[in-house]
Amino acid sequence: MKKKMLALSLTAALAASGFPAPAFAVGGGPDVNGKETVQTAMLTTYDEMASFLKKEDAKQGHMELEVIGQSVKGRDLFLAKYITNPENPTILYLTQQHGNEAMTTEGALDYISHLGSNSKKVQDMLQNVNILLVPMLNVDGAMGDVNFPLDNYMASGRHLTRYNADKIDLNRDHINLAAPETQALHKNVLQKYNIDYMIDLHHQGTQEDYYGKLTSGAILTPQSPNVDPEVVLNSKKLATILYEGVDTTGWSFILKFDEPTTNPSVASNAMALQYDIAIMLFEMRGMADHSYEPYVLGQKSNGYLIKQAFNAMDVTANAIANGSIQNADPAVYDNLPEQHYSY
Ligand SMILES: [Zn+2]
Repeated sequence: MKKKMLALSLTAALAASGFPAPAFAVGGGPDVNGKETVQTAMLTTYDEMASFLKKEDAKQGHMELEVIGQSVKGRDLFLAKYITNPENPTILYLTQQHGNEAMTTEGALDYISHLGSNSKKVQDMLQNVNILLVPMLNVDGAMGDVNFPLDNYMASGRHLTRYNADKIDLNRDHINLAAPETQALHKNVLQKYNIDYMIDLHHQGTQEDYYGKLTSGAILTPQSPNVDPEVVLNSKKLATILYEGVDTTGWSFILKFDEPTTNPSVASNAMALQYDIAIMLFEMRGMADHSYEPYVLGQKSNGYLIKQAFNAMDVTANAIANGSIQNADPAVYDNLPEQHYSY
């Protein structure tokens, strides 16, 4: 995630630079560009998510819903579990550590619906992989229910912020565990289940590109030099599976994330270091709300991004279930170019 705070709007910056406005990547869609009021009303609220999860739990035979803890403001934090056989390999999908990165959760909820399908393909898959989903870890930030002002945020209506209610960045808190949300995740998920793989889903700014073509997402494996080489290798295989399964949809364009960090308190390093989990960071395009306009996504891209998050989960779960992940070529990930950052 970028921290640059340019005063110029994107439109003004493009005009000033003489750089032509980029053609929208297929499925990329515009960012807000100063012309669109950012509405957040279509995003699933915490209460809607909670009732959806309870309803699916009652309906789905394989699903088990667990409350793993409470947020600063007392909201229950959920884990949706699909464990048919503890001996199966297990993958964890984590969304919205950053509360303003919302399409990841929309994709996870769609995927939970999908896992309740009676189709033979889904049922066969669930016999061979255990799936854990923690949607919307930062529930207070997602609802803008925080102990600091969000007056300068762009959205009209409900605001969403990166930080938890106490202004802690959950994705810098995986060593300190100062926040109740990260404590719950570590104590009641990471330390409790034997997790082999994990995808940590986020959103980045809207203007990452590669020679003018906007990316719809970026991936990154653990960067800490202290991660076990086998964990790194399995992380790269996971990244290759995601890349090959998602980038070929025609409207996704995925490259390597351009801000690698060795910070051990970031999930994509912490889970590998602390639990030997093969993990990748998946940064999708654009945020639902922010004080900095070029980070905020126009709503026309929402459908594609939800589908992209869904596909990322589905291709990886299937590859783990059928064993094809073992044969994934880590060089495909290694050879991916890094996206740029063009403003
Ligand atoms: Zn994030």
